[in-house]
Amino acid sequence: MQISTNYHTHCTFCDGKSAAEEMVNAALERGFTELGFSSHSMLPFSEPGTMDEPTARAYVGEIRRLADAYADRIKIWCGIEADYLAGVTVPDRPYYASFGLDYLIGSIHYVGKVPVDHNPQLLADGIREHFGGDVGKFIRAYFAAEREMVSRYDFDIVGHPDLIRKFNQRHPYFDESAAWYREELQNTAECITASGKIVEINTGAIARGWLTEAYPSPYFLELLQSRNVPLLLSSDAHNASAIDYGFDRYASMATLDRLPTLPRPLRP
Ligand SMILES: [Zn+2]
Ligand SMILES: [Zn+2]
Repeated sequence: MQISTNYHTHCTFCDGKSAAEEMVNAALERGFTELGFSSHSMLPFSEPGTMDEPTARAYVGEIRRLADAYADRIKIWCGIEADYLAGVTVPDRPYYASFGLDYLIGSIHYVGKVPVDHNPQLLADGIREHFGGDVGKFIRAYFAAEREMVSRYDFDIVGHPDLIRKFNQRHPYFDESAAWYREELQNTAECITASGKIVEINTGAIARGWLTEAYPSPYFLELLQSRNVPLLLSSDAHNASAIDYGFDRYASMATLDRLPTLPRPLRP
C-alpha cells in the first residue's frame, strides 16, 4: 500500500526537535496528502516533554493556523498522544473535548510510577523499586493497563502497543518468546480486536536506534493481522527528517492509508 499520511508526529510543543511548520514542509517534500500532529498530552505532574494546559491550547492554535495556511496543499490534523495512567489521566474523547482536537492516540508511557521508555536505567530502577524486581509482574501490569485502556476509553489509535520492548534488544530484560509473554500478547490482541480500535505500526524506535523491528513485534503483528485489526503506519517522528522513517519497509503491512475517523471532531 502506498502510504502518504502520518498521524503520529511530535514537534517543539512537546519533545520534538523540529517546529510544526518544518514538519509540514517535510511532509510536503515527501508528497504526503495528510499530516497529523500528536503532541504528548498534559500530565497532572511535571514531566519534561509533555505540554501543560496553556501550551496545549497554543499548540492547537498553531496547528490550526498551519492547517489554514497549507489547506490547498495538504490536510493537517491536530491530535494528541494521550497518556493512560490509571486513576490519573485517560485517553478519552470527553476528557479532551474542550481542546477542539481531531483525534487521539492512546499510549502508555508509565506503569504506575515506572517510566517505560525514558532510559534503561530508570526502567530497571523502577521495576526494582515498585515491582520488587519482578519483571514478569511489571510486564503483566503494562498489558493489563493496555487492555483496560482499549476497552474502557474512546480514542482512535492504540500507540506503540508493546513499548516495553524498547530497551529489550540493546539491554535485554525479558524473553519475548516465553509462553507467558506470548499469552499476554494473545489476550491483548483479543481485547484490541473487541474494542474495534486501530493499531499503529510504529517505526520510531528503529529511527532512534533502539530496535530493528517496529512496534508491534512480528509475533504481535501476526496476532493482530489474523484478527483483522486495522493497521495504520506511523513514524512517531520527533524531527522532520524522520517523518516517513521505515515507511518503505512497512507500507505493505498497513491495512489503512488514512485515519478513517477523520473528520470526527472532538468538540464539546
Ligand atoms: Zn509514545
Ligand atoms: Zn509519540
